[in-house]
Amino acid sequence: MHTRILILIVGLFYTCGLTFGYSQDTPKYRILASASMWADMAKNLAGDKAIVDVIVPIGGDPHLYEPTPGDAKKVSNADLILVNGLTFEGWINELIAGSGTDAKTVVITNEVQPIRSDIYKDATDPHAWMNAANGLLYIKAIHEAIIAHDPANVDYYKGLYEAYRDLIEGLDNYIKFAVKKVPEQQRVLITSHDAFKYYGQAYGLKLEAIQGISTESEAQTSDMIRVTDAITKYQVPAVFIESTINPKMLKQIAKDNGVKIGGQLYADSLGEEGSPGDTYIGMMTYNTDVIVNALSNANTTDIKFGDETTDSYLYLILGLVLLGIMGLVFLKLNK
Ligand SMILES: [Zn+2]
Repeated sequence: MHTRILILIVGLFYTCGLTFGYSQDTPKYRILASASMWADMAKNLAGDKAIVDVIVPIGGDPHLYEPTPGDAKKVSNADLILVNGLTFEGWINELIAGSGTDAKTVVITNEVQPIRSDIYKDATDPHAWMNAANGLLYIKAIHEAIIAHDPANVDYYKGLYEAYRDLIEGLDNYIKFAVKKVPEQQRVLITSHDAFKYYGQAYGLKLEAIQGISTESEAQTSDMIRVTDAITKYQVPAVFIESTINPKMLKQIAKDNGVKIGGQLYADSLGEEGSPGDTYIGMMTYNTDVIVNALSNANTTDIKFGDETTDSYLYLILGLVLLGIMGLVFLKLNK
């Protein structure tokens, strides 16, 4: 009899525990990101507490995106909507207004110092995430939005945020270190559209692009001449295509001027899952490796896209440096 009561009591506690656990972990809330870069950031910052979804699919161009009825449904089901702003997603306000959602919309660039457009008055360059130091401001904004939405789990989110912040600080240092390996006069980055201004400003590269800071306006003959002039003036060894933009025009310019395509860069979208650009940190690291490799090796043979040997080589050097530092710390501690 006592055993039965004991089993009943234990069973009751177990059920309570399950119920308690259940109510803590579910239902998950939904975070919707306009583009894949901040969807990845949100996954890193929300961990297993939220379902993260994205509007513009991988490889899509957020400047020109046309929302689908499926997107309206995603918006109306969302709890938090993460938006870049700075005139990046011109279509999103209408989408949000039309969906009747009561989700909180968070503009994640509010603390960013925007770069003004050279051409359009009052327009800003949206590509702020291309500077990893701005990436830190993006993740801070997302982290704050998450803890405001789910304050009960603040300690959990803080742990995730601090670990992720350390990684992005490391990324920023890595890019600074890597770009310095390119001879100074060769630090010129020619791309399909002007998505690298923040990158160039932060890490010390001159920039030229066929299209402006948005892909909305078609490239003109004058743009091709301007880029050709820059190739001649700076004697750049390579130009770079982008994963979201048709490479035809830049390939033609490269051919006409006898320069190489240095590789395919990620700017407005992450790469496909399994590619080296499938996370924000991955895309920034990969871009840097491709740029540094192509601009440093002016006289080598054709550079393949995503040259893994070079990537491994860079990681090896970085690994050795880290080992050296750890060795020094170890020696110091054992003195
Ligand atoms: Zn862009």
